[in-house]
Amino acid sequence: CLTCHFTFQHIICHLTLMCLASIYLSESACFQMQCQASNEEEIHAVLSEQSLYPAGWIHTHPSQTCFLSSIDLHTQFSYQVMLPEAVAIVAAPTDPTRSYGIFRLTDPGGMDVLRECSESGFHTHRETTDGSPIYETCSNVHFKPNLRFEIVDLRSGA
Ligand SMILES: [Zn+2]
Ligand SMILES: [Zn+2]
Repeated sequence: CLTCHFTFQHIICHLTLMCLASIYLSESACFQMQCQASNEEEIHAVLSEQSLYPAGWIHTHPSQTCFLSSIDLHTQFSYQVMLPEAVAIVAAPTDPTRSYGIFRLTDPGGMDVLRECSESGFHTHRETTDGSPIYETCSNVHFKPNLRFEIVDLRSGA
């Protein structure tokens, strides 16, 4: 399984336009058909060396549907706390309804739930106080097929 982190080269005008500039590949440990990045620290060190902000992350659900698990929600929270525009991309090639999704936690609804949650592993979350869903599909993502980007492979050779 592969987990990728990416950075946006330009964040223009808050939520209107974001450009994918770099993709960072990292080692992932797979368990129960879920994937967890195992060297996030290394990625963040490389990014800060280059003065880049992680603007989101992408991972696969090889045999599951396209959604954010409770673990994914906590990962997304850690990104969205640092950058409110950060997104979680899930690639789910075997989901017949949609093969990928771009998600974010609702703010303040989902962000408040995650901020107060200290559980780990797979667990359920309480409802949001304002009745909104915990996370939503991003409506502010623009696709630009011609953008140049750079892939940095941090995986070890093994
Ligand atoms: Zn997931
Ligand atoms: Zn939780």
